[in-house]
Amino acid sequence: MLVLEKADVLSVIKWPYVDSMKVVQPDWIKEMFTAITPYYGQLRIGLGTLRDFYLPYVLLVISDGEFQRVQIEKINCTHCQSPWLSANPAIWDLYISVPNKDEAWEVALSRTQVKCPHCGQDPGRRSIWLGRILEAG
Ligand SMILES: [Zn+2]
Repeated sequence: MLVLEKADVLSVIKWPYVDSMKVVQPDWIKEMFTAITPYYGQLRIGLGTLRDFYLPYVLLVISDGEFQRVQIEKINCTHCQSPWLSANPAIWDLYISVPNKDEAWEVALSRTQVKCPHCGQDPGRRSIWLGRILEAG
């Protein structure tokens, strides 16, 4: 997994190649990057390899050098309706390019789920990170 700095993300959006290997879904990268920009550092864009191209993912930084693939979702807490940006690791498609999918899946399901910061209840999705929805720029 290639973990991108902000500047790398911007250049991939403009020119979807890294070392002459194609990066697919640059529009998706742009959309995700816009959503997570206020949190870039906690969340990163990563590129996994599949055959002869790069597939983009959003990664949650667990610790220095440890990342968890996540799906970013806009949710409303099922208890208090507060809107959040949620990071959900329990999406099977996230692991499509991982050599040991079953192990990656077990790790994903073992991640600690977070409570809604507003009401303290389970927000209704398998969220391992929640952030306020902030407009970038
Ligand atoms: Zn809540």
